[in-house]
Amino acid sequence: MDFIKDAIRTIPDYPKPGIMFRDVTTMLKDARAFRAAIDAMVQPWAGAKIDKVAGIEARGFILGGAVAHQLSVGFTPVRKKGKLPGRTLEESYELEYGTDAVEIHADAIAETERVLLVDDLIATGGTADAAIKLLRRAGADVVGATFVIDLPDLGGSKRIEALGVPCASLVSFE
Ligand code: IMP
Repeated sequence: MDFIKDAIRTIPDYPKPGIMFRDVTTMLKDARAFRAAIDAMVQPWAGAKIDKVAGIEARGFILGGAVAHQLSVGFTPVRKKGKLPGRTLEESYELEYGTDAVEIHADAIAETERVLLVDDLIATGGTADAAIKLLRRAGADVVGATFVIDLPDLGGSKRIEALGVPCASLVSFE
C-alpha cells in the first residue's frame, strides 16, 4: 500500500491552521493508484453479499461509484442536508463547533438490503456514524465500511466497529 500512501498529498493548515489535510485527489489522478485503491477497498468483502454501495459526499461519491461498478450493484449518495430533490431522511451529527446533517432519499434503500458504506477518510467517525444511522433507519443492513484513509488517533474506526459495522482502510496517518 506504500504507493497508494505516497500518492496521497498532505496540505498543512487546510481548512484551518493546525489541520493536516489528506488530499486524495492526487491519488485519483494516478491511474495505477486509483485502480489499486478500488480493488483493495472491495477485497475485504469478497464473498460477502452486497446489494448496494452508499458513498458520503463528496469524495465518497467518486470512490463509491467505482466500488459499486466493481461489485455490479447500485449506488446511493449520502448527501449534505438540502441537496437531494426527493423526499429525504435526515440525521444530524456533532461537529467541533455546531452540528451538520446528512440525508438520503427516503426510497434509496429497500428493506433488508445489505449496504457497504464508502468514504475517503475516517477521522472521529461522526460522519460515518450518522450515515450508518440513516441507512439503518431506511431498513439497510450495513455490512461494512471501507475507507482509503484512517486517522486512528481520532478513534473513528473503533467508534464505527462499536456500532457493529466492521471497518477497513488502506492506509493510516498518525
Ligand atoms: P469524521 O466525521 O470526523 O470522521 O470526518 C470524516 C469526514 O470529513 C469525511 O467525510 C472526510 O471526507 C472529511 N475529512 C476530514 N478530514 C479530512 C482530510 O484530512 N482529508 C479529506 N477529508 C477529510
